[in-house]
This record gives sequence, C-alpha cells and structure tokens, in this order.
Amino acid sequence: MSMEFSSGRAHRGAPCNKAQASRKLRVGILGATGVVGQRLVHLLANHPWFELTEVAASERSSGKTYGEAVCWHLDGPIPITAHGLLVKGLEPSLDCDFVFSALDSSVAGPAEEAFARAGYPVISNSRNHRMDPDVPLLIPEVSAAHLDAIPLQQKRRGYTSGFMVTNPNCSTAGLVLVLKPLADAFGLDKVLIVTLQAISGAGYPGVPALDMQANVVPFVSGEEEKIESEPQKLLGRWDGSRFVEAGLGLSAHCNRVPVVDGHLECVSLSLKKTASLAEVRECLRHFKVTREVQGLPSALKNPVVVLDEQDRPQPRRDVECGNGMAAVVGRIRECPVLGVKLTLLSHNLVRGAAGAALLNAELLASRGLLTAALHSKPSADVLAIS
Ligand code: NAP
Repeated sequence: MSMEFSSGRAHRGAPCNKAQASRKLRVGILGATGVVGQRLVHLLANHPWFELTEVAASERSSGKTYGEAVCWHLDGPIPITAHGLLVKGLEPSLDCDFVFSALDSSVAGPAEEAFARAGYPVISNSRNHRMDPDVPLLIPEVSAAHLDAIPLQQKRRGYTSGFMVTNPNCSTAGLVLVLKPLADAFGLDKVLIVTLQAISGAGYPGVPALDMQANVVPFVSGEEEKIESEPQKLLGRWDGSRFVEAGLGLSAHCNRVPVVDGHLECVSLSLKKTASLAEVRECLRHFKVTREVQGLPSALKNPVVVLDEQDRPQPRRDVECGNGMAAVVGRIRECPVLGVKLTLLSHNLVRGAAGAALLNAELLASRGLLTAALHSKPSADVLAIS
C-alpha cells in the first residue's frame, strides 16, 4: 500500500495531494434519505473528487436499499450510484474516508461526535455543533481561516484523525456571502433581516399543507437566533485559541412562505464608512473568491450575482443561479433609517446546505485534510493503484 493510504497525518496542511489526484475519496452520508441528504446524493453523482460508498439513516430506513427507503424529491431518477446501496444505521463503522451529516438535529449532535471520535472527518449541515468554540463554521469564500481550529479541536476532544466542520444555517449562508465584501470594504455596523423562507427548509414532510397553502407563517423555530449569532462567528476571526466575534448589531424576523426552494431576505444595513449605492453595487458585483477557492469544483469565481431589474431576485426565476451556489442580490437602494437596503435570494438546499457542505469538503480535500483517516478497507481501485 502506498504512503498516502497508510498514514494521512503527513498530508495535513499539504496542497492538493496525490491521493486526490489518483483516486476518488469515498464518502458516506448520514441522513441520506432526507431532503438535504438527497441533494448531496444528487451533487455527488458525477463529482470529480468524491464517490458515494455509504448511506445511513434512521431505523425506519436501515436494512433497505436506498431506492426502497428514500422518498425521492428531485427531478429525474435516483442516481445509479446510490440506488442499490444498503442503508445503514449510525454506527461509526462505515466504509468511507469521511462523512457528510444531514441528520435531523435531534440525533446529529452525539452521532457526529461518535464519528469524529472514531476517526472520520465529519462535514455537517446540522445546527448542533455550529457555535461550539472549537468547531469551524465554514464558508470557504468567507471563513477558510476557521480551519486552523481543527488541531485544537482534536487535542481538546481527544480525536485522532477525525474532526467536525459545519456549514451555517440556510438563511445565514446567503446573507453572509453578501455581508462579507461589504464588511471588508466599508465596515458593517447594524443589519436588519426579514426572511421569506421556502418550505423545503423544514425538511420532509415539513410544514403541513393546511398551514402553508395560500398562507404565511411568521415563525421559523430557532431561525432568528441562528441568524443573529452565526454571522458573528463567520465574520469574526480565529485568534489561535478561540473565535472572536465580529461585534455586529443583528436583528432578524423569519417567515415561512409557500415557495418550494429558495430563501428571500430583505436586508437593511448601516456601514461604518460612507459609501454610495453605486459603490455598494460594484463592491458586491466584484466580490471575487481567492485562487484557492476558485480551484474547487463547486465554487463560483464571483459568488454574489447582482441583478438590475426592479422586481428581482425571485425564487422561481433565480434560485438556480450559479447552479444554486450564488447569492443573488437586487433592489439595492437607499434606506432612510440605516443607509442601504437590498433583497437577496439563495438556494436553501444548495448554497444553504448540500452545496455548502460539498464546497467545504472540497476545500478540506484540497488542503489534504480528508486523507488523514483512511478508513477500513480501501476500495478496489485504491488497491489497484497502490
Ligand atoms: P429531513 O428531510 O427531515 O431529513 C432528516 C434525516 O435525518 C433523514 O435522513 C432521517 O432518516 C434522518 N434521521 C431522523 N431521525 C433519525 C434517527 N433517530 N437516527 C438516524 N437518522 C435519523 O431534514 P433535512 O431538511 O434534510 O435537514 C437535515 C439537517 O440539515 C437538519 O439538521 C437541518 O436542520 C439541516 N439543514 C436543513 C436545511 C434545509 O434547507 N432543509 C438547510 C440547512 C441545514 P429517515 O428518512 O430514515 O427518517
């Protein structure tokens, strides 16, 4: 067996590594049957670096094939790569190099810890560990430096090769992509957010049809707290031993609306430096990711898309912009109270969940951080090239 498969520790911190070039990394999905898990299955079907080898879910699903267990919601058939896989339970003994977690938050916390303790890198969508003081809250375009927290996390928790990395809540993901370039260019002071959130954000079966049909529900459990806290960590910094918060004034109102996919957010904000609306627009339009991030398969070079039409963005028309990875901004205008107002849209299941987790995995892989665990039996193609 070649070096990269017998010891990953030597690769930590290395640039895009030999293992990645020579074979695909094997992926497991915890919560593969849910709406986020299904998106991950879909996005992984033709991924250049990763191949799906394991799916896990609850006792309702385990023991069945994926095709039997899942209530498939996406257009097109279940990818052949997943259809016949046997759904397993949450025992941390899956045949894969790392796992995504798309588990319900009622079980995600201890399950993710168990996998990390057993040596698996865990890339999570769930809220449970997002605000832990040693867990990166990662948007590669915004907070790649959070990955420096991983060695301390492993030391504190006694993990060997495993660790946990999380992506933010679905509304926060798009919001922070828009706030980041403004914070860097002008400084941010206060931000008020009113969300209009899609039904798919509540998972499946989610909110009852009788509540959602021709209606708006002005409450999304736990959401306002997440939007008021997660940007503080994302826009803050890791100082070598802890995350220092950004110190923003944030206030959110969250509403569930009868839209299938795509969270719309009406945002008012105040900047520390004076900026014209034209400067705000250009700053967002020209937000360009680092060269490192540009090299990731799911990344957009310019992740914020600015529309000039007065009635855009709209969920039905714009949610797939940038393959669902863009934050789409429109209606940039003067706010008589805070200075600037705008409307933004992002795909809650792609940029806000599965696509975000995939991009996080790509960043970890490009840094050589996913080859450390190298679990159980290598797959046949690995043996062939070793
Ligand atoms: P979902 O559709 O309800 O799916 C939940 C998944 O968790 C299913 O695979 C389910 O398996 C599994 N699960 C539930 N109870 C379990 C148990 N006791 N043991 C093992 N597996 C169990 O939810 P979702 O919308 O995909 O969300 C998944 C996670 O991502 C949640 O933590 C959510 O907060 C987060 N998230 C969601 C969104 C979004 O837009 N939907 C965005 C960002 C983050 P079975 O099918 O076998 O029951």
